[in-house]
Amino acid sequence: MNREGILEELVRPNIRRLRAYRCARETVKEGILLDANENPFPRRCGTTLLNRYPDPHQTELRAALAGWIGVRPEMVLAGAGSDEVLDWIFKVFCSGRAVCVAEPTYGMYRVLADIYEVPVRDVALGPDFRFDAQVFLNEVASDVRVLFLCTPNNPTGNLLDPGEIERVLAEWRGMVVVDEAYMEFSDGTSLATAPDRYPNLIVLRTFSKAFGRAGLRLGYAVAHPTAIQFFLKVKAPYNLSAWAQAEGLRAVEAARESAREVRLIRCERERVAVALRDIPGVRRVFPSDANFILLQCPAASEICRSLLEEGIVVRDRSGLPGLADCIRVSIGTPEENTLFLGRLRHYLEGR
Ligand code: PMP
Repeated sequence: MNREGILEELVRPNIRRLRAYRCARETVKEGILLDANENPFPRRCGTTLLNRYPDPHQTELRAALAGWIGVRPEMVLAGAGSDEVLDWIFKVFCSGRAVCVAEPTYGMYRVLADIYEVPVRDVALGPDFRFDAQVFLNEVASDVRVLFLCTPNNPTGNLLDPGEIERVLAEWRGMVVVDEAYMEFSDGTSLATAPDRYPNLIVLRTFSKAFGRAGLRLGYAVAHPTAIQFFLKVKAPYNLSAWAQAEGLRAVEAARESAREVRLIRCERERVAVALRDIPGVRRVFPSDANFILLQCPAASEICRSLLEEGIVVRDRSGLPGLADCIRVSIGTPEENTLFLGRLRHYLEGR
C-alpha cells in the first residue's frame, strides 16, 4: 500500500489549512526580550526561570526523549500528560467519522469522543482480552478514522500482540493510536520506533507511571514528523511549564533511578498476584504486564466500599463491559500491598 500522503488524507482539512498562532518565542529566544509582555524581574524555582515564557518547542526535552526512545526529535512532542496528547489527536484527526475503541479499556478515549461529538464504534477484545486484527478489519475498519489501542491495556493489564497491531497499521488507511502508558513495566515490544515505517501510527507515553511523576503532568507522542507538525499547530503555544520541561529532562537523565523502582514494582506485582490467588473468594487474578492487577471476586463493589472504610482505595471496574465483579488494584509500596492483602483476606474470610 502506498503510505505517502496518508496523513494529508486523514487530517481534518481545516487543520491542514490552519495558519497556527505564532507566539513571541517562536523564533527569537534570547536578547533584550521586550516582545512578550513579561515581567522583566527574574523569579526562579531552583534554577528554572519563571518570569519568562517557556520554550514553546520543548527543544531540549524533545531531544532527550528522542534519544531515550531512539527516534528523531521531530518525531516527539510533549503535552501536559498524555491526556493532552489525546486531546490533540481529536482536534487533528476526528470530525464526523467515528473512532474505534477496543473495550474494555481506558475511559478517556470515549469521553473525548463524547466531548468532540465523535461517534464511537467498539471492537470487543477477545478471550484473555486479546486484540484480533481480523475482527477489526472485517467488522469495523471501514466506518472509522482512528483506532485506540492500549498496551499493556488498562484495566486488564495484558499486552496486545504487536503483530496484530502491525497488521492493522499495514493494511488499514486510518490512524492507529497505541497508548503505551504502562509499557515500561513489561517485557513487551514497544512500537515507539515504528512511526517511521507507519505514518498512521501515534504512540503515547507518559511520565506519570514508571517515571513516577504523575503530579508533573508530562506525557508525549511519538509519531511521524508530519503528524507532529499538525500537533504543533493545535497545541497551546506554551503548553508545558518551564518547570515541567526542566524536571522532565532530569527524569530522562535519571532514568536508571526509575528503572530500579520499576524492578521493585514488578517484584511486588508477582508477590501480590501469588498472594491474591491464595485468598479464598478471589475467583480470578488476571496476569499483568502493568503496575496494577485486575482481580475478580463476587460482590466486588461491596468489597471496594468496605476497603474504602478502612482507608484502602482501589478501583471498582465492575461496570465496564466484560468486567463483571472486577477490581483494579495498583501496586503500592510493599507495606501498602501487605495491608491491602491482609484487609482483603480478612473481609473475604469473614463473609
Ligand atoms: N493512558 C492510559 C492508559 C492511562 O491509564 C492514563 C492514566 N491513568 C493515561 C493515558 C493518562 O496519563 P497522563 O497522566 O499522562 O495524562
